[in-house]
Amino acid sequence: MDLKLGREKLRDISTILFDLDNTLIDTRGIALRACKEVSRYLYENGMRDIAAEMSTKKFFEHLCKMPEDPGPTQMDVDQWRTLLWVQALGPKYQFFARDAYDIFKAKTMSNFKLSRDVESMLLDLKKHYKLGLITNGSSEAQWAKVESIDGKQYFDVILVGGDYNQGKPHATIFEKAFQVLDVSPKDCIMVGDNIWSDIYGGIQAGVMATVWIVRNEDGYQDLDYQPDYKLRNVCELLDLLPAQGRFSGLCAKRAFEFYSSVYSS
Ligand SMILES: [Mg+2]
Repeated sequence: MDLKLGREKLRDISTILFDLDNTLIDTRGIALRACKEVSRYLYENGMRDIAAEMSTKKFFEHLCKMPEDPGPTQMDVDQWRTLLWVQALGPKYQFFARDAYDIFKAKTMSNFKLSRDVESMLLDLKKHYKLGLITNGSSEAQWAKVESIDGKQYFDVILVGGDYNQGKPHATIFEKAFQVLDVSPKDCIMVGDNIWSDIYGGIQAGVMATVWIVRNEDGYQDLDYQPDYKLRNVCELLDLLPAQGRFSGLCAKRAFEFYSSVYSS
């Protein structure tokens, strides 16, 4: 934990905004494990082991670079990711693409659960703070993940970038969260693993402090913006925040209804 700045910025906050993927849950690790399952399926069905591994590696790289269809006519997530498998498998094995995607999707979703530590941290924080989730990605894919973790029980607002013209780091989605939660930016901290969308986005939106969940520090020192705090694991947030007893009155008035960018009726 990097505490060079001290904790004074956190003294009066009432609201914590979280990113989802690779912040609250190891999305990358889950996807890699699902790829291994696909690789095994491909091998058991006639592909050479090296070719199966290469194809799944290629799919994973494509997925990281292009989680959504970047084209002008946006395909739905299933079509798009099946197409990534077609590209990864190449002409000889592209007939496996549908099965590969089905296995990948099923394994990913069945493993998309919060760890007990994260779950209990969120329940603990919820007693003292307003909690928001702001996640980038396609509406369909991200809402499926939110449902998989039963997100509505933890968060007072859930916003998905794909439901808006622009996701993080653009200010619009942060401003929506402030509005729904009835807080000012200075009441909030933003916690996320992405130095651009979460940290730069939070700074641009004017939050009191940003907390970076560090996966890889390469090159970040050269940036002209910096996170206020760095943590290796999101659960360290409990140690970073002031003693929670001091905040027991802050969120006594939860006048807002549960709100989400899709299920807002
Ligand atoms: Mg993330």
